[in-house]
Amino acid sequence: MTGAGSGIGRACALALAAAGAAVHAVDRDADSVREVALAVGGTAHVVDLADAAAIGLLPKKVDVLVNNAGFQHVAPIEAFPVERFELMHRVMVTAPLLLMQHCLPHMRSGGWGRIVNVSSVHGLRASANKAGYVAAKHALEGLSKVAAIEGAPHGVTSNCVNPGYVRTPLVERQLDDLAAQGETDALATVLLDRTPVKRLLEPEEVAAAVLWLCGPGSGFATGSSLTLDGGWTAN
Ligand code: NAD
Repeated sequence: MTGAGSGIGRACALALAAAGAAVHAVDRDADSVREVALAVGGTAHVVDLADAAAIGLLPKKVDVLVNNAGFQHVAPIEAFPVERFELMHRVMVTAPLLLMQHCLPHMRSGGWGRIVNVSSVHGLRASANKAGYVAAKHALEGLSKVAAIEGAPHGVTSNCVNPGYVRTPLVERQLDDLAAQGETDALATVLLDRTPVKRLLEPEEVAAAVLWLCGPGSGFATGSSLTLDGGWTAN
């Protein structure tokens, strides 16, 4: 479970542990990942997922891989820092690839595995000023589909979940930035503008979807992108 120290990752770690999983919680934030590991009786791994060598030291005997770690950077294309764009791809695309390479041999040998990639509505749609994030999430969608095709003969499924705006620190930071730019009601006028269901999604609701994709009854769901977007992409 990557990005387990906060927000969606934390909620997923709690839900998976409650369902009986032994959780390896991975995050670069040492304090928060240790707190989550303690809460779920799991193991904390303090790893920066931009560091390929550090990923190589993570455990390989993993039946369920949740690629969740990610971050946002907001800037128009002409001002988007290239090093930030590349870092977003390292953390949100290359790290999931490396973790799949790392864990797939064990999944295949057991004839069962679940890969869940926490994408976004921005894996399916674009918004202005989010070039790095939108490009990385679209790439993650493609990687997830390839993993689904390659995993199918071995009992391994791969899916994306695609939340709209979730009540997490990642979104709270965007709301703070918009408020600083003078947006008086940024939640309604910017974030939820295209969303018919006028509220934020809760991290626990994303965790419930992740749990379903890892549990019995979802074996035929693979290569899919499960939208939890309050109707955004239908709009
Ligand atoms: P968050 O900021 O609350 O948590 C992200 C976690 O990832 C943090 O604990 C952070 O330390 C960790 N992380 C970031 N970069 C890392 C790195 N290089 N190495 C290791 N850990 C790293 O954010 P969140 O909202 O819970 O987001 C989780 C995922 O959900 C992200 O991939 C995000 O893109 C996706 N998502 C979020 C929303 C939303 O509205 N919050 C919507 C759609 C998708």
